[in-house]
Amino acid sequence: MQNNISNISIKNKIPVGILGATGIVGQNYIRLLENHPWFDVQFVSASPNSAGKTYSQAVDGKWQMLTPIPDSVKNLIVADANIVDSVIGQCKLVFSCFEISDKKAIQDLEFGYAKAGIVVVSNASAHRWTDDVPMLLPEINSSHLDILELQKTNHNLTDGFVVVKPNCSIQSYLTPIYALMEAGFEVKKLIVNTLQAVSGAGYPGVSSMDMIDNIVPYIGGEEEKTENEPLKILGSIVNNQFSNFNDLVISAHCNRVPVIDGHTATISMLFGDKKPTEQEIIDIWTNFRSVPQDLALPFAPVHPIAYTQESNRPQPRKDRDTDKGMRCTIGRLRVCPVFDYKFVALSHNTVRGAAGGGILNAELLVAKGLVG
Ligand code: NAP
Repeated sequence: MQNNISNISIKNKIPVGILGATGIVGQNYIRLLENHPWFDVQFVSASPNSAGKTYSQAVDGKWQMLTPIPDSVKNLIVADANIVDSVIGQCKLVFSCFEISDKKAIQDLEFGYAKAGIVVVSNASAHRWTDDVPMLLPEINSSHLDILELQKTNHNLTDGFVVVKPNCSIQSYLTPIYALMEAGFEVKKLIVNTLQAVSGAGYPGVSSMDMIDNIVPYIGGEEEKTENEPLKILGSIVNNQFSNFNDLVISAHCNRVPVIDGHTATISMLFGDKKPTEQEIIDIWTNFRSVPQDLALPFAPVHPIAYTQESNRPQPRKDRDTDKGMRCTIGRLRVCPVFDYKFVALSHNTVRGAAGGGILNAELLVAKGLVG
């Protein structure tokens, strides 16, 4: 069913909070939510070290954004993200991007917020494989929201629930692959080589000794996420449980490169018996639209996939910010002598791959009437 922004009426902005507001992803949420038409940041939290300080004090010396801290956020008092009660009455939805090494602690806290009636839109990996938590990439699997009824029953939730977004490494190429599948072309195998920006490592990130004049060919856990998360996202819900898409095999090499923002991936792909022409692939990508575009969500890219004909693009510095930093830019589609075709893809890791992607998920939830 097609919808339109004019049908989504937001009488008053929805109060939202950010758990982990002082980190790289949190700072991007603060930046991107300034003047958002539907959301108003009224609550910020971080580690116990930052708790009790004003937001300006907590990020003093580590604010990485190119725009100043919004006036509306500067003087908010930072709460301790580990204390769920501090959010009660402050907001209806939180963007979760705090980092604790104990995965179970993040899982418990995120469900703690949900039990307190708060909708949790998470960037953390803790719940990506939880049976009743959807891992949303709205251009591909908004139908996975159907699992929320089960989640609410399992955890005795009323207004709150948890959704997560996938890892930043897959954002550049998965929607283009899905577009080809949706157009009727079976994609059987992918070899993906990622060139990932330093902002993906959080603050203070990777040592300058490792990054200047260098490339690090290892990012802990990233290759597993790149190979496995697409299978849940492309999967379906059968008998009230996720059924992974197991007809695609991905081999990933993940590298940290000296780029500030923007993850690039080079991809080789093998089709099944039915193989598209180069022009068919470009047409499918160029014409691809999905739920966020049909709903005209404020953060939806106009063109979720854009193909550039320039022979030396995409490039992180030149292409990452286009279309609100929310689109995949693709170039260099050509025949692969080992598989069928190869191409280069780019997406902004802290926008599309983190805060912008989280905001798009939250907008989808609002548009679907799931945020009370
Ligand atoms: P970051 O820059 O290291 O920020 C970490 C945040 O967590 C800070 O706000 C920090 O607060 C808070 N924190 C640290 N210890 C805590 C504790 N014990 N209790 C509560 N809060 C604590 O990390 P990031 O890059 O923003 O990443 C945040 C999350 O998003 C991670 O799960 C990461 O995997 C995910 N993610 C990141 C990206 C990316 O491109 N960076 C992309 C997708 C997903 P203080 O400032 O007070 O220490």
